[in-house]
Amino acid sequence: MLSIDLLTTYVICGAASCAGALMTSLARTGDAALASALRRSSLGFALLGLSLLQLVRGVEGPMAASMLLALAGTTVGMAAVGWGLATLAGRSVRLWPAVGLLAGVLVAQGWALGQGPKSLSVVYSAGIALLCLAATWSLRDFLLRPQNWPEALLGWAIVGWVVSYALRAALALAHDGPATAYHAYGPDWVLRLLGILYGVMPVVMATLLLSVVNARLAAQLAQRASTDDLTGVLNRRALREAAVPFVERTQRGGEQLAVLLLDIDHFKSINDTHGHLAGDAVLRQLAGLLQAQLRRDALVTRFGGEEFALVVPVADAQAAARVAERVRDAVARQPFDIGSGSLRVTVSVGLAMLTGRETLEATLQRADEALYRAKGAGRNRVETAQRMAEPAVLAPAF
Ligand code: GH3
Ligand code: MG
Ligand code: MG
Repeated sequence: MLSIDLLTTYVICGAASCAGALMTSLARTGDAALASALRRSSLGFALLGLSLLQLVRGVEGPMAASMLLALAGTTVGMAAVGWGLATLAGRSVRLWPAVGLLAGVLVAQGWALGQGPKSLSVVYSAGIALLCLAATWSLRDFLLRPQNWPEALLGWAIVGWVVSYALRAALALAHDGPATAYHAYGPDWVLRLLGILYGVMPVVMATLLLSVVNARLAAQLAQRASTDDLTGVLNRRALREAAVPFVERTQRGGEQLAVLLLDIDHFKSINDTHGHLAGDAVLRQLAGLLQAQLRRDALVTRFGGEEFALVVPVADAQAAARVAERVRDAVARQPFDIGSGSLRVTVSVGLAMLTGRETLEATLQRADEALYRAKGAGRNRVETAQRMAEPAVLAPAF
């Protein structure tokens, strides 16, 4: 039969916490918020670990120095881990209420020391449960709307922590036998389960924390790789991927797809006259205007320097022409703010319909040719590409 004595449990939990501190302190991230979440949690794991490990020195009674260190160290350590988790969840922890909560728990534990081992056990466990409950509250988004599975698991791990300490408090309250050296009361099998839980929990939490950080960084990287830095719309590389479902739907014969290529007229002279920053401001505002003009299911892409590609599901070619004209007109009517004043800007638009089995690349090529014609014809206008020639259906030869 598995037998775990309490000192062994605490030492294993201490070692696991130190391992958690090492894991979280070694992780590197360029994101300031994630870095401070990791720093705070690793400080908490280190405090927890060292406070528990020093119990190897043994305890002679509730007032023994190593016992006091373990009580205060684990309480403060737990609070620091909770602080790190709250930071990870994007909650700004208000300093004074947080310090007040921690001080209240420490004072209550100090008071309980004088009341005997049973009271100490009840108050200590209830205090830790309270701190974990505060951490759970800050992680409520992880429980209710997790962005990825490590977030959900981390949320539930903290709930498990609350339940285990609440259970310890309840068991101590119900106990009426003699005190034990390490203040854990209850049936043997529950203590064994708690022993296993405390042994693995710090490493599990540290691993989940790192998984959440990793998932965040992966999402940030994917977002950065697919968006244009200046305007925040899709970049050209992302267009190819994002357009795949649109093209497939069109090829299955559902809706039609309008592909528009827009180029700002005489943009070079805007840069030359008002400066590059004014040019950048125009590009940003144009991107915003294009997004506002189109339905959410349209794709807005910065295709090149001052060229934008739009992919818009439409009912037919007439609807596509109306969209192109509406966009051109909206740009011409909009004053663009460049700090020192406002500017009028126009765009030329090449429109091509993606139909049949044509590829997006081929449609963009036709839209580009139409755009070239719009420039040649005087700018601030829409030119529509010829429809793609359907392959001739040959009559069977008999
Ligand atoms: P056209 O009417 O024929 O299109 O004339 P244009 O002056 O717009 O065309 P051209 O291709 O000669 O100029 C495009 C300019 O766009 C040149 C380049 O300096 C500018 N440009 C490209 N990318 C950026 C950018 O990110 N910011 C700024 N401010 N300018 C950019
Ligand atoms: Mg251009
Ligand atoms: Mg231009």
